[in-house]
Amino acid sequence: MATAYDVVVAGLGGFGSATAYHLSTRGVRVLGLDPYPAGHDLGASHGESRIVRQAYFEGSAYVPLLRRTYELWDRLARDAGERLVRHTGGLFLGPAGSRVFEGSLASARRWEVPHEVLDPAEVTRRFPAFRPPAGTAALFETSAGLVGPERAVLAHLRLAAAAGAELRHGEGVTSWSADVDGVVVHTSGGSYSAGSLVLAPGRWASELLAGLGLPLRVERRGMHWFRPRAGADAFDASRFPVWIWDRDDGTAPYGFPCLDGVAVKAAVHYSRVRPADTWTPAELSDLLAELLPGLGNEHLRSVECTYTMTPDEHFVVGRHPAHEQVVVACGFSGHGFKFTPVLGEVLADLATGLAPSYDLSMFDPRRFVGAQR
Ligand SMILES: Cc1cc2nc3c(=O)[nH]c(=O)nc-3n(C[C@H](O)[C@H](O)[C@H](O)COP(=O)(O)OP(=O)(O)OC[C@H]3O[C@@H](n4cnc5c(N)ncnc54)[C@H](O)[C@@H]3O)c2cc1C
Repeated sequence: MATAYDVVVAGLGGFGSATAYHLSTRGVRVLGLDPYPAGHDLGASHGESRIVRQAYFEGSAYVPLLRRTYELWDRLARDAGERLVRHTGGLFLGPAGSRVFEGSLASARRWEVPHEVLDPAEVTRRFPAFRPPAGTAALFETSAGLVGPERAVLAHLRLAAAAGAELRHGEGVTSWSADVDGVVVHTSGGSYSAGSLVLAPGRWASELLAGLGLPLRVERRGMHWFRPRAGADAFDASRFPVWIWDRDDGTAPYGFPCLDGVAVKAAVHYSRVRPADTWTPAELSDLLAELLPGLGNEHLRSVECTYTMTPDEHFVVGRHPAHEQVVVACGFSGHGFKFTPVLGEVLADLATGLAPSYDLSMFDPRRFVGAQR
């Protein structure tokens, strides 16, 4: 048996990289394992941009975590010496009663997240590229913005390594076992023992957690870049915030400002009329013509990514139901990235026997295991 570690982290993507950073900067001996190169594009943490926001339509219970995640994004940027989050503001639009608008408003009011409610004319006056259809309500969240997932993963990994974490890319976990003494992890390159194990394998979770029978569904999502007909300036971050549009036909596209002076990214988050991954770039630009008439339909490129969905679309974060020295982090259901700093901190707490200071019951892995019995 090779060297013993305090904690093995399996998976060094969004959540594993953050966990390795929090553990190693606390002086914990960490081994991080991943079959693919750092910052790769085969999982869920690539594609230039992710929305960060706090007026959370998915549930106001997320907001305490989001407050902490903002603090930790700032800390990471300071430690890494680079700008990671860009606060463009965020527009969350939909008909009155829609999940995105009403849910964002409920969270903003409950937690006093700075926001304004705007009618369509006011949206266009403030952000001229947007022409919301009549009857659309919009919540503008001042502190929303975007983060680059590849840069964030690489920053977490770089700082984890600098703090002493041993990170092995090209070495995936093939199996693991746990007993009262800790865990033993087998990889393509050897076997390692540790006090505890954090499993953060993204869309591959069902392979490493087969015994748990989590009801995870992996879905493809395309991200599409267009050259705006109205010119890149109209979509510059100074006058074009991140946005999510909950349409009354049950489709929710979203997008970002122009980050490179050329291209504007948009995608479909969910769609109740047809599978979200079946929207072609041409269909998406047609769909967006109403809201963003200056976008046009000159498609430049597309990149594919994956959502790992749970039935209730809440995360799976907590101790393994059968092994308290094993911590599970998966099922982020297409909205996890903004939480990587705070849940990295939470996972580091769980892996070292500390009680996290948040109510994590919504993410309890046992909610599905129990449901299947
Ligand atoms: C198109 C798209 C848009 C999104 N938009 C947003 C957004 O705007 N805002 C937001 O907050 N979230 C967003 N998300 C969700 C967010 O990106 C994901 O929730 C997050 O990236 C998931 O991180 P992860 O660590 O679970 O997975 P990953 O980053 O994929 O990491 C999993 C890692 O595990 C490794 N691995 C696999 N098998 C093994 C093994 N056997 N042993 C060891 N390691 C293994 C993989 O190689 C990988 O590196 C979006 C996702 C997609 C796909």
